Amino acid sequence: MTHGKDAPHPLRPPTAVLTRGFDPALSVGSARPAVFRSSTYVFSSPEAAARAFEVATGKIPAQPGEQTELIYSRISHPNSEILEDQVVPLERGAEEAVVFNSGMAAIMTAFLTFVRPGESFVYTAPLYGGTNHLVVDFLPTLSCQGIRVPAGAGDQLDEAIRSAPNLSLIFLETPANPTMVMTDIRRAAETAASLPRRPLLVVDNTFLGPAFQHPLALGADLVVYSATKYLSGFSDMLAGLALARDRGLIQRMRAMRIMCGNILQPDECWLLDGRLPTVSLRMNRQSKNAQRIAEALVEHPKVRKIHYPTLFNDAEQIKIRLAQCEFPGGIFSLELEGGRPAAFEFLRRLHIARNAVSLGGVETLACHPRTTTHSSLGETELNLAGIGEGLVRVSIGIEDWRDLLADFQQALDQV
Ligand SMILES: *Cc1c(COP(=O)(O)O)cnc(C)c1O
Repeated sequence: MTHGKDAPHPLRPPTAVLTRGFDPALSVGSARPAVFRSSTYVFSSPEAAARAFEVATGKIPAQPGEQTELIYSRISHPNSEILEDQVVPLERGAEEAVVFNSGMAAIMTAFLTFVRPGESFVYTAPLYGGTNHLVVDFLPTLSCQGIRVPAGAGDQLDEAIRSAPNLSLIFLETPANPTMVMTDIRRAAETAASLPRRPLLVVDNTFLGPAFQHPLALGADLVVYSATKYLSGFSDMLAGLALARDRGLIQRMRAMRIMCGNILQPDECWLLDGRLPTVSLRMNRQSKNAQRIAEALVEHPKVRKIHYPTLFNDAEQIKIRLAQCEFPGGIFSLELEGGRPAAFEFLRRLHIARNAVSLGGVETLACHPRTTTHSSLGETELNLAGIGEGLVRVSIGIEDWRDLLADFQQALDQV
């Protein structure tokens, strides 16, 4: 139910996100959606109930424009439907979205939906810790084999895509966490498209989306998010999303979601849809802040290197950044002289940035990946990925950048 759909021309994302997905007439005129906490819904007739079940279970497809009645809130509920409708214009190229109770739930459901026993998938490394655990330790027990390719290694990725037996899915996390190494989405899409049986290309867009990177427009089939990060933006909830151009892919994930029972609850849907209109504003401020700070700190004598998109010096990485990222984003990692003691001392000396994992919130957070977010990786894997003892990851918030810069400088001076 939307009045945006009746507008005289296609609305641009900042307008669409505020006008579609919600009809005040369905909430006694309330300007913001109500929260519908009911677990079950009353049918208008037994026939309407039967019809709702036929469509929900996929026995009979819905007619174009047909709205079947709500059934039970593990299947869907008004707040998930509002949220799923409102988020679509934020992801360029998306036609449909499905919401989950965490980013891991979205990623797990994508793998369970699209990779069958006996099939393989290709993935970039390093991956987010939870995703890594899923692909390395769990999916092989279902006879789904993962083929690992280092982030940014274009030739190796092409080779893996062409030679993987029974390949059904390619999973890219770009930029990689915490080193910001980028993988070429368009190139992966073209290589995938050259195969007789085209695998699905899935991108975890948590770090730069939805504001700065648009995988569907570059040829990806599915975008997944931890909405816990930038989309919700205040470090106060967990949520996940998947979006696609092909509605059929999202409908298959919805069917899996019914079975897994991992839909986002009404209160959280309501919170998240209220955050959507400001995602782009927040991310733009975070990116501006981070760029100012990273480019100033790179001169500091205690800093060996800063991993940040505008500070790349590899020609191929610069080419990928220019082709697929509109702005560099709010996350950088500093490599300090002096290894772990220096990194820990730096974290201890910070007054504004807090020592916590997670990212994308309006407040600045910093952590030591090697002993926290990436501690489950082996020694070789850590070294291969460039996650050293002196590395600190920073997620910049919306504070005044001058206060943050002064804080980082005084902490570095004391290391
Ligand atoms: C946080 C994160 C996840 C997992 O999301 P949750 O909401 O914590 O389940 C997945 N991918 C990336 C890149 C993340 O940063």
